[in-house]
Amino acid sequence: MKISEVRVKMVANKDDRLKAFCSMTLDNDFVIRDVKVIEGAGGLFVAMPSRKMSDHCEKCGGKNHLRAKYCNNCGTSLSENRGRQDVKGRVKLHADIAHPINAQCRKDIQEMIIAAYAEELKRSEAPDYKPVDLDDYDYEGDVPETT
Ligand SMILES: [Zn+2]
Repeated sequence: MKISEVRVKMVANKDDRLKAFCSMTLDNDFVIRDVKVIEGAGGLFVAMPSRKMSDHCEKCGGKNHLRAKYCNNCGTSLSENRGRQDVKGRVKLHADIAHPINAQCRKDIQEMIIAAYAEELKRSEAPDYKPVDLDDYDYEGDVPETT
């Protein structure tokens, strides 16, 4: 598998951990969007497209995001940290929709995306810079936890 194109859309807010949205094209045939470049404690990392995980209220069966303190439907208080925890004891809030299944592929993707991001960052400093148009993303103000 070859990554034939990476497009990077910089995120304007400089204080945010989320630095850019990317799309990557595989073998000129298949596009994966909503790949994110995130500033983590250990530097930049690439987050695969993910969805927020939710569970169901024990009382009414209503669907709630794992971070919700009260049920959206019946208002019952929900226990915190009720999600599945990772090895470091952090609650897993997101699940990847598409992701590499081996370390080499993860490394290759990470390197290509970060390189494309670095290039776009350089370009973005030019006064006549025009941001890449990647359509609208439904960014809800939170980013996946650092892996
Ligand atoms: Zn409920």
